[in-house]
Amino acid sequence: MAKPDLRSMTIEELQILTDEIGEPKFRAKQIFEWLHKKNVNSFDEMTNISKSMREKMSEKYKISNLKIVEKKESKDGTIKYLFALDNDNIIESVLMRYSFGNAVCVSSQAGCRMGCSFCASTLNGLEYNLLAGEILEQVYEIQKDIGERISNVVLMGSGEPLDNYKNVLKFIKIINDENGIAIGQRHITLSTCGLAEKILLLKEENLQITLAVSLHAPNDEIRKSIMPVAKKYSIDQLLGACKEYSDATKRRITFEYALIKDVNDSIECAKELSHRLKNMLCHVNLIPVNDVKEKNYKRSSETTIQNFADYLNSKGIETTVRRKLGSDINAACGQLRRGYLKNRG
Ligand code: SAH
Repeated sequence: MAKPDLRSMTIEELQILTDEIGEPKFRAKQIFEWLHKKNVNSFDEMTNISKSMREKMSEKYKISNLKIVEKKESKDGTIKYLFALDNDNIIESVLMRYSFGNAVCVSSQAGCRMGCSFCASTLNGLEYNLLAGEILEQVYEIQKDIGERISNVVLMGSGEPLDNYKNVLKFIKIINDENGIAIGQRHITLSTCGLAEKILLLKEENLQITLAVSLHAPNDEIRKSIMPVAKKYSIDQLLGACKEYSDATKRRITFEYALIKDVNDSIECAKELSHRLKNMLCHVNLIPVNDVKEKNYKRSSETTIQNFADYLNSKGIETTVRRKLGSDINAACGQLRRGYLKNRG
């Protein structure tokens, strides 16, 4: 059996471990700092921990590490990374530079089983659920690579975060811990395709993170035609869960809506959407869809996108259009990984 990963453990869990091997509790905090503040990749680098304790730990535990296998930099500063996990799975992460700081878009799964028809990450199904430590490592390795602090994290890379619920929750807890990299909850966004039951579960955690929901359609008929998850949860059910979530956390929900030419971009769609979202504490983010070669979806025209945004704004629903970063390096949605895996054969 694989050894448990030390980097995926909270301080409380590390304290259980130090108890087990007969070491004082303050050692747990020291180990946590090595892994999450100094971001070391091996037991040997933990120089204030005795050699015998390091040996005891390495017998039973591993430290998850990611290796950069490919890196592409865009003219706008966006960098796309392909990482190899210890088990040789390939995942991707993106660094985005904003005026407010550096944001990293992390993957929570290799592949995905949600099957959205416009998304490249899901074409081969789910391959692996990332450990909390492997999600954290994406942030740490990028921070090391650029030598600048990462201030924001979005769980919007490949995978469905709420389908890897336990590990993702632990990731949020650890990344938020003041003894580690300490990224504030309000600087973390989790994007889901809309697993309504899991949204209700997450509500109980009462986090201050931003919840983004990939809605992409104003009614069940269109949504079912592009997102299989819509067959499990109706829009009414999904928006009901979102309402409960924002009532409980007092946090505004972001609805993502990828505009696909002639599929979901008509003014009728905008109208229907505005009725649906009338009483929600929310914000709409329109995404010009990235063409996926395997599918016949085309991006809506600039005018159509602007008209859609204007309509929603005129109805009092705050709407923005996502700025495109890194389009010259295939930075979007599983495309670089897919190209790499195809070449690797
Ligand atoms: N599974 C989560 C997070 C990963 S996808 C989710 O569904 O939200 C992150 C965002 O990218 C989602 O809004 C997703 O719908 C969107 N996306 C996927 N493929 C896309 C494409 N080809 N063009 C534009 N957006 C896309």
